[in-house]
Amino acid sequence: MKTVTEKLLKWYEKNGRDLPWRTKGGAHPSPYAVWVSEIMLQQTTVKTVMPFFDRFMSRFPTVESLAAAPLDDVLLMWQGLGYYTRARKLHEAAKVVTEQYGGRFPASRAELAKLPGIGAYTSASVTAFAFNLPESPVDGNVIRVVTRLNGWDEPTVEIMDKINACADALIKAAACPADYASAIMDLGATVCTPKSPQCLLCPLRGDCKAFKDGTADKIPVIVKLKRDARRGYVFLITNAKGEVFLRTRSEKGLLHGLTEFPWNTDETLPFPADWKITRKKVKHVFTHFDLTLTLVALTADAVPADWNGRFVSPGNFKNFPFSTLMRKVADKGGYKSFFA
Ligand code: SF4
Repeated sequence: MKTVTEKLLKWYEKNGRDLPWRTKGGAHPSPYAVWVSEIMLQQTTVKTVMPFFDRFMSRFPTVESLAAAPLDDVLLMWQGLGYYTRARKLHEAAKVVTEQYGGRFPASRAELAKLPGIGAYTSASVTAFAFNLPESPVDGNVIRVVTRLNGWDEPTVEIMDKINACADALIKAAACPADYASAIMDLGATVCTPKSPQCLLCPLRGDCKAFKDGTADKIPVIVKLKRDARRGYVFLITNAKGEVFLRTRSEKGLLHGLTEFPWNTDETLPFPADWKITRKKVKHVFTHFDLTLTLVALTADAVPADWNGRFVSPGNFKNFPFSTLMRKVADKGGYKSFFA
């Protein structure tokens, strides 16, 4: 009788997704492509990543070309993907791979995990997909399949050790770990979906406790973290020539190094009474909090000296690395056409 791993591999042969960063039948020939895709896929869907991945790989086809590029170029190519820390770390890691490893990615998970921006998940992914070694990347799809297979109905945060151990055991039994790692993810993404899993099409239904018990729609149990809501103002300052005031975010952390209209998250901060508070609001969801910014529009030829920026013609906006948040502000402020 076939094992779970064998059934998944068989199913993958016919039903696995064709993705530019995967190769059916073994390791992908480019650890660089696998690594870029994995960083892009963090907190972002496959569908969203596809066009960005192609564009990024055309602009930076090798790890050496990425390492040699100015950070601003990398941020510009990342524009629209969000979570810009990923792009900065990608650039840092490209330099390390180029300078310390001669442009070749290490095949060991422990060595990969020493690179900037590569954590437990990404090191396992690159090891499995690019080197065909039995390391298990555990994402939301894998968690869903494993917990349903076993009928585990405890909150996932409390049973991650058990989930990881099961995922490890499954991949270690695989004749082709790269295909297996893709197979379980693809099953989670296309059949064992969060809502309405298609159990009748699933190759694992004979092994699945949740299917047997009729509990698939109740598993996995994910406890949502309470989110923080923050509010503030964003300032669209136009001078007499129609140029708009922009600056580079110098504050460390969130959106560091990206272009922005000045903004704050303190609604009590004073600003001149003749600056007009509009009714326009921009909402944005960050990993740990929700942000709502109210647009303040004004015409002025001078701004507070410590805002450290300059006036830029909207026709040049497309040459600056704006965050997704600031693109939303620009769209709301009437500058959408300048990014086309
Ligand atoms: S039988 Fe249903 S619940 Fe079980 S693994 Fe397959 S799709 Fe998921």
